[in-house]
Amino acid sequence: MVGVHPDARRQWAKAGVTMPVCFTNCVDCGLGTVVAGEVYTVHDDIWEQAWAGRRKWWYSRVPGQEILCIGCLERRLGRKLVVGDFAAQMPSAWGRAQER
Ligand SMILES: [Zn+2]
Repeated sequence: MVGVHPDARRQWAKAGVTMPVCFTNCVDCGLGTVVAGEVYTVHDDIWEQAWAGRRKWWYSRVPGQEILCIGCLERRLGRKLVVGDFAAQMPSAWGRAQER
């Protein structure tokens, strides 16, 4: 799954919405996360750190506002992601993170 806030994913799932490709661009740099192969999931607390104080009130109403590529997520956190940050075993995403 792409780096989307879990609440948004749950809302979409409830509505029967699958991930539209046009909603997968990183909000910081515009990178297409699916195209780049950066499909990953991090733990909720990591995601919250990255988004603390950055959300606008309408973000929870508009799908696709909370998508970050690994590089921008690391920049927001101010550190490199480690394997323990990922919520699921995502060897490909982890491999890409290590290449940086
Ligand atoms: Zn980015």
